[in-house]
Amino acid sequence: MTPTLLCFDRDLRLSDRALFAAIEPGTQLVPLLVLDRRRIERIARNPRRAAYFCAAVAALDTELRLRGSQVLVRRGTLDATIRSVARATGARVVAWSKRYDPAGAREDLRLQAIVEELGLRALAVHEAVAVDPERTAIDDEDTGFRSFNAFYRRWRAPESLRAPIDAAAHFAPSVLPSEPLPLPEEFGTSRATRAVGERVARAELERFVSDHLVEYARAMRTPSLPTSGLGIPLSFGLLSGRDVVRSVCKRLEDPFLLAEERAGIERFLRAMARRDFLLFAGSESASQPEERLFVRESREFATLLEARTGFPLVDAGMRELLATGTMHPAVRAVVASFCCFDLGLDWRVGMEAWEGLLTEDEPALAIGNWRWSAGLRVDMHFPRIIDPQRQFLRGDPQARYVRRWIPELALLSDARQLHAWHDRQLALDLFEIERYPRPMLDHRERAIAFLARYAEWRASMPPVGAPRSSP
Ligand SMILES: Cc1cc2nc3c(=O)[nH]c(=O)nc-3n(C[C@H](O)[C@H](O)[C@H](O)COP(=O)(O)OP(=O)(O)OC[C@H]3O[C@@H](n4cnc5c(N)ncnc54)[C@H](O)[C@@H]3O)c2cc1C
Repeated sequence: MTPTLLCFDRDLRLSDRALFAAIEPGTQLVPLLVLDRRRIERIARNPRRAAYFCAAVAALDTELRLRGSQVLVRRGTLDATIRSVARATGARVVAWSKRYDPAGAREDLRLQAIVEELGLRALAVHEAVAVDPERTAIDDEDTGFRSFNAFYRRWRAPESLRAPIDAAAHFAPSVLPSEPLPLPEEFGTSRATRAVGERVARAELERFVSDHLVEYARAMRTPSLPTSGLGIPLSFGLLSGRDVVRSVCKRLEDPFLLAEERAGIERFLRAMARRDFLLFAGSESASQPEERLFVRESREFATLLEARTGFPLVDAGMRELLATGTMHPAVRAVVASFCCFDLGLDWRVGMEAWEGLLTEDEPALAIGNWRWSAGLRVDMHFPRIIDPQRQFLRGDPQARYVRRWIPELALLSDARQLHAWHDRQLALDLFEIERYPRPMLDHRERAIAFLARYAEWRASMPPVGAPRSSP
């Protein structure tokens, strides 16, 4: 039987791979990693991601060596590399994991064209999603993928949960010489500071399910509490979405499950379903009203990037991102709303800035969430403007999160105290007032101004929905 080339991209694992069930039993797989110019440029854009990617590839190589194989690394153009490796190995099929963002989808088409031009069979497999697309496809055109609730009903049906894919895969022994594995230095960065790999990710999943799932429902709306942190290994494909969903659903079999944990499980499953929903919606490229509602540049944006807006929750979120490469999910929505509505910036400006900072590497989720934050398409048709101060009072009333990330506010006893400070009712010596700025803008004024622009734009469009906001 001729071997199949398995091109690795963002699914850097060997377990629970849909591909193994899609190929003929007994097929030998040649694990290939092509580092072409585009891939190298994309990786080099974000030092944290580059370090994580290199560590994940090294871990994958170790796993393959345990199976008598290795990652075959090639630096060069995609077409020349596929041609030469297919010729040298006699492969007749080239397989890879489907990508969901517009640039990734274009890459998929390019790869497919290259493979088919060589007279080989192209096999692109849905690896990232937790539930197979045919399970969640909705015939009704009115709801379709616009409605998350309709999607979720299908997604959550018991028959959607798949058994582990344990088809045995056979990896070809390394007969061709490999180029060196990608190293952080190649991308101008240094080694990842923590352990990375499929086994590490599985341990992280198990720890989350056994220790933290119980308080997930609270954690997802409380910035000072950690959420699963699985977004990073999921985005590099070190864990499969199926595996995560299965592990969490297994907890539901416990007859002594606490109501709190059941609530946590339901919230977590909704988060995982949202992931699938946005992955499927990620390659949409319908024209948008951005140009009429938002600007592409603003001098105020630099203040947001420096995390000195004077809105503590916004600044704490940005400081967490700058320091760690991640930001609590509840705070992301607040910062994104601030960027789009208070600063009036096109969502792509904020997203591009985060692309250089976030360790997670899932562009379809970045696009879907930023568009959702800007009130554009996917499953919403109206802007949801978040009041950053009210959200601070609600989500971080003890100011634990804000104090953790903003040392200037370390003496704050709770979120209300800061409001009193803004009203100049407190003694200055309680705060290092010189060091932490007052709010850079009037949120209410900005929200009203945005809604006026929005109403004008809506009036010029056929009606689809109504604006909703509480500035
Ligand atoms: C403005 C904005 C930008 C974002 N950019 C990215 C991004 O670039 N890459 C990325 O992977 N995620 C992004 N997200 C989604 C979400 O915030 C992260 O997936 C989450 O913070 C990861 O942390 P966690 O694993 O602890 O999440 P948890 O709360 O523990 O959630 C568990 C898993 O569910 C999925 N999930 C949770 N929330 C969402 C969501 N809103 N959309 C889709 N999937 C979700 C993720 O896979 C996550 O790992 C963004 C959200 C917002 C509001």
